[in-house]
Amino acid sequence: MESEIQLSKGLLIEKGSMLSDAHCHLDLFENPGHAVKKAIEDGVGIMVTAGTDMKSSMRVLELARGPNVYGVIGIGPDAASSDYKAVDGIEALLKSNKNIIGIGEVGLDRKIAENVDMKVQTKVFERQVEIAASLDVPLVIHSRMAIDDVIGIISEHAVKKAVFHFFEGSEEHAKKVEKMGYLISIPPIESGRMKRIIKDVDIDIIVSETDSPVVGKSPAAVKYVVEKIAELKGMTFNDAGERITETIKDYFYI
Ligand SMILES: [Zn+2]
Repeated sequence: MESEIQLSKGLLIEKGSMLSDAHCHLDLFENPGHAVKKAIEDGVGIMVTAGTDMKSSMRVLELARGPNVYGVIGIGPDAASSDYKAVDGIEALLKSNKNIIGIGEVGLDRKIAENVDMKVQTKVFERQVEIAASLDVPLVIHSRMAIDDVIGIISEHAVKKAVFHFFEGSEEHAKKVEKMGYLISIPPIESGRMKRIIKDVDIDIIVSETDSPVVGKSPAAVKYVVEKIAELKGMTFNDAGERITETIKDYFYI
């Protein structure tokens, strides 16, 4: 563990060539330190690694050592039943490490409703929404087949900051999210819907992610996402990368 952390120390990339991965799961890599090192070499200066349950959140707490790796912790929908009681500990854990910059990934997932009751999912999500709102930290949202409910809950609780990881909504949802001041996180997959959304919304609410190793291979793959965003926005690759990095830094108070 110690050697993994060492690898990311003091390697902060100079301004001008910085890319950011707003959402990955470094705890799922066989060798997180290696993935971080490779990403830094490829110009990825900021990685936000997300927990999905208590076990992975504890790992995120160990991995989130700036200046390159930051973390969000939380109990996601998959773990809403099994880690039900752990939710109350999230606040103290968040305060224990300054590189933990938000609560996530949390939300609702209707695809797993058969295994994890939607009522339980909603309760666990709402509790964490309350914590995020009271601490004024961003929420990183996991939403599958549930975007209207998620938007409903976070607006009810007057959440100021939320990042919609792997944005699943329509163009209309994207516009709504933009109006509410939330961010849309673009994964490394191509679709007509995603392209239209990237074109439609302001560059300042767009961030890039890999969701690696689940979707993208590694945080280094975020360059392909930035490439796509740059192309659709008519920007240079460097401008798009820097702009996204600025957005992430501002939003997460990095
Ligand atoms: Zn994820």
